[in-house]
Amino acid sequence: MATEPLEKVRQEFLAALAEAGSDPARVEAVRVRFAGRRSGLLRELEDALKTLPREAKPGYGKALNELKKLIEERLAAAQQAAEDAGARRQVLDVTLPGRRPVTGALHPVTLVRREIEEIFLRMGYSVADGPEVEDDWHNFGALNMPPDHPARDSQDTFFLKDGLLLRTHTSPVQVHSMETMPLPIRVIIPGRVYRRDSDLRHSPMFHQVEGLVVDEGITFGHLKATLEAFVHVLFDPRLKVRFRPSFFPFTEPSAEVDITCVLCLGTGCGMCSGSGWIEILGAGMVDPRVLSACKLDPERVSGFAFGCGLDRVALLKYRLPDLRLLFSGDERLLRQFEGVAR
Ligand SMILES: [Zn+2]
Repeated sequence: MATEPLEKVRQEFLAALAEAGSDPARVEAVRVRFAGRRSGLLRELEDALKTLPREAKPGYGKALNELKKLIEERLAAAQQAAEDAGARRQVLDVTLPGRRPVTGALHPVTLVRREIEEIFLRMGYSVADGPEVEDDWHNFGALNMPPDHPARDSQDTFFLKDGLLLRTHTSPVQVHSMETMPLPIRVIIPGRVYRRDSDLRHSPMFHQVEGLVVDEGITFGHLKATLEAFVHVLFDPRLKVRFRPSFFPFTEPSAEVDITCVLCLGTGCGMCSGSGWIEILGAGMVDPRVLSACKLDPERVSGFAFGCGLDRVALLKYRLPDLRLLFSGDERLLRQFEGVAR
């Protein structure tokens, strides 16, 4: 058959092109070898047409045209592929520095919780935990809040089925601790609490931390020294601590605790409304009725308790202007705490 050389060239071309892959120089070499204007194999095949006997020419010419078309199309596709691969190679510059993987950052509330835990662990406390779903006795009754107490109002409390509720403070863990732990009790209790309250300054879920010490001979002096040491380590040793008489159902006597403003150190600024003081904690001596409710003898043992809002402490500690930032999930806030490991 006169078309046999055409078939041979077709097979050689396909093999050569497959071997060239998307390497532009090798694709070009294949083009020159088969389709080069002066000495390409196609040119030789065209020349051969002239020497063929008349009756063989139509069949050969048709097959040659098909081969030319195939070679043109496959070369164009291979050139395009080589070009695309070149563009990809430019994007994939291996000399560029690697991309750093995104690492998370601890939330400011977590940071401040861990720092507070650490301070009290060093003072010989242990960290206590309790359920967020509580019964009436642990959240109210044992804490000297009888059934008609205003704090039980459904305006404040999320009530669940079967007499259960979402704890409105971390104080029920004080009750659990006094019910189960041997003396002396020294616990720090951080956790989530829930109240039906949502506006610019309140979130329905927020964080508290409480402390409780119970033993024989515990006095208000112990409470005062403990809170002063705590404030000095957490914020600044220059801060003064001030106790103002107050009332809580579960402590007697009770006090609100102010510290010197952490921003102006007492000279007066916007954060402390010019007063130089910031209210930070509630505290007091555990009410004898609470001790009795927890089966402890108020004639023999005494204790102190204190508590504060963790979110508020985080705002003060990190100079954040707005409580809502803490609950926004805004990555831009969290990124500022990258590398602050605790
Ligand atoms: Zn101030």
